[in-house]
Amino acid sequence: MAAWCARRGWPVFPLRAGHKTPRPGCSRCRQASDHYVPHAPAGCPCITQGRWCHGFYAATLDTERVARWWRERPVPGVGVATGPASLVVVDVDCHADGPVAASRVLPGFDVSEQEAQEVRTGLDTWKLLARLAGGPDAADAVQTLTVATPSGGRHLWFTAPRGTRWASSAGGDHGGRALGWQLDVRAEGGYIVAPGTLTQTGAYRAVGKVRLPALLPGWLAGALQRTGHLLQSVPRPRATAVPNLARQVAAPQAESAWASAVVATALAQVTECERLPEGSGWSTKLNKAAFTIGGLVAAGLVASDADARRALADAAMQARPQREQEAHRIIRSGLIAGQRRPLNPTKDR
Ligand SMILES: [Zn+2]
Ligand SMILES: [Zn+2]
Repeated sequence: MAAWCARRGWPVFPLRAGHKTPRPGCSRCRQASDHYVPHAPAGCPCITQGRWCHGFYAATLDTERVARWWRERPVPGVGVATGPASLVVVDVDCHADGPVAASRVLPGFDVSEQEAQEVRTGLDTWKLLARLAGGPDAADAVQTLTVATPSGGRHLWFTAPRGTRWASSAGGDHGGRALGWQLDVRAEGGYIVAPGTLTQTGAYRAVGKVRLPALLPGWLAGALQRTGHLLQSVPRPRATAVPNLARQVAAPQAESAWASAVVATALAQVTECERLPEGSGWSTKLNKAAFTIGGLVAAGLVASDADARRALADAAMQARPQREQEAHRIIRSGLIAGQRRPLNPTKDR
């Protein structure tokens, strides 16, 4: 499941086996530890070196890292960093501790005392939201990846419209941003447990027929915007399954950043063919990407030939899954040709 998520462009990180919390990092990175050294997750060397410190900050799309982390026993659960995955997940709780004050049920809407009286759990809040915000009649008619949680709640997974970023929130909090009572939002700065994860209290299981998140529907986007969840609505590139090959290289930082950008661009040109019909130059783009990355391998800016081959194969398969044999042939010859022409920033930019 971790690899499946990463292939979809959703960065993953390990959860403590049997739990829904992140797997603890090393003693220097764990605030509760005696050896804790205060530092920001963003620049932590552990993450650069491929460890899982700092929970969702370590989330990765890197196939090697994913394979290594989930070889551990007992098998860690899978957390998805919702922000960089461009996911918005509504976490519908199901704790029967209603009713609740009308003003707290759905902060963005006028809820009558009578409607509030009928709200017992987050599932009721969600149904009421769908009704007031112009959603489908039955809230369970939402056609998207829906995951049942061990506590009887539901996670409704949506993809953010291109270029939009959404805030996370906890619906149980007093004050602050909230979509609704017992409705949490997992987006920027948050994470969600992937379906298939087992915990001591039960499994996270996809229910219904839909196995992929739908685009965030307009009525829900409107409700999220109304409650202050829209952070940004300008285009930004969607996270794609592009491993940061150059990150593993002991090259000076500027060169390494340049190589990352070159790799990402080369691979993106291949993966973009996913949205284009056959005959749109997939094989040419794949050959060019292999040639370019081969040049970076020769210049010592990409860690290994094997990593490069894997990244190219992933990109090729994302765009043209049915042309695997051909892809491997193109990648092999492109890399060989590229390695005769070392590519580095000072010479070729
Ligand atoms: Zn660490
Ligand atoms: Zn750290």
